[in-house]
This record gives sequence, structure tokens and C-alpha cells, in this order.
Amino acid sequence: MMPPTKKAVFFDRDDTLIIDKVYLNDPKLIEYMPHAFESLKTLKDNGFDLFIISNQSGVARGLVTVENLDLIHAKMEEDFAKYNIKFTGIYYCPYLPESNHPDRKPNIGMILRGEREHGIDLKNSWVVGDRLTDIEAGRRAGCRTILLKTQYSRHKDQGPQAHYEVSNLKSMAEIILRS
Ligand SMILES: [Mg+2]
Repeated sequence: MMPPTKKAVFFDRDDTLIIDKVYLNDPKLIEYMPHAFESLKTLKDNGFDLFIISNQSGVARGLVTVENLDLIHAKMEEDFAKYNIKFTGIYYCPYLPESNHPDRKPNIGMILRGEREHGIDLKNSWVVGDRLTDIEAGRRAGCRTILLKTQYSRHKDQGPQAHYEVSNLKSMAEIILRS
């Protein structure tokens, strides 16, 4: 088997690509982070596969339905498609934090799924998120990591530091492209 050669960026969803509405359950309430479209377009145009990896414990809590989650992700796909951006995979983990499910970040199940299903070379890939649990997952998977610290970031998690910290998605894309 050929070694994987494709490079990817794995994005957290809430407070990374869209504003965290806390257990968002309605596609009409999606609001994108500043620079989301142009930043992802630049990455796509430079040969990166794009993934979303999202913890969605609201499903297990009964606050978000799988049907609505699918509608939310379909709406995001449709909005990004207007800019010719297609996600290679949109993965979510519906389980509670206490589950310590292998897919739930900081575990790396969703990243490994991207690697396995799409031949992604994790050493040449990135994880971007607003929480240190995103960063920890990225580091465990052998990716480089970028912590997004915006006006919306509220979490004070403990965990390993990111390789880079940025205040917006535009800087995120610039770092990846020059690295
Ligand atoms: Mg987040």
C-alpha cells in the first residue's frame, strides 16, 4: 500500500468555523466566524483536504437531534459550496464527556477516521480549534496545531499548548500556507 500523501486541515466547528450558540439545534441560527469562507478557500486552493471534527454531546443530552445536526451540516456544506469549498468529511461525536469515547476530543478517533477513509498524511496536517482539547487531539495525532483565540473564545481548559495561536481565521490560513 502506498503511504498516505494528502495533507489536511481538521477544524473544530463551534467557535472555530461558526459561532457557538451552545447546543445549536437549528440551521437558521448558524453564524459564521469572520474570514471563514476566504480562509478555507485559500487552503483548499493550495491542496488541503478540509474536515470538520466536532464534539456534539448535545445529542446524548437530548438537546440536539441527529436530524437537526444533519440539517445544520448540510446547510454549512451548501454555504461553503457557494465559494467552491467542499469538505472531505464532516464528523461529529454525539457522546457525553464522561463516555471518554474514542471519537470524543481530546481522543483522536475522528482524526484517524479521516486518515483511514481518505489517505491523509497526519504529519503534514493541521488541527485548528478554540479549545485545548482540540489542541491535545491534534498533538496526539501527530498534527501541527493552531489555537484560535477570538472575542468568542471563553474556555479555560488545561492541556498542551498549541504550536501557534492566532486571533482570527485569516492568520490561521497564513500560518499554514507559509509553514
Ligand atoms: Mg469549539
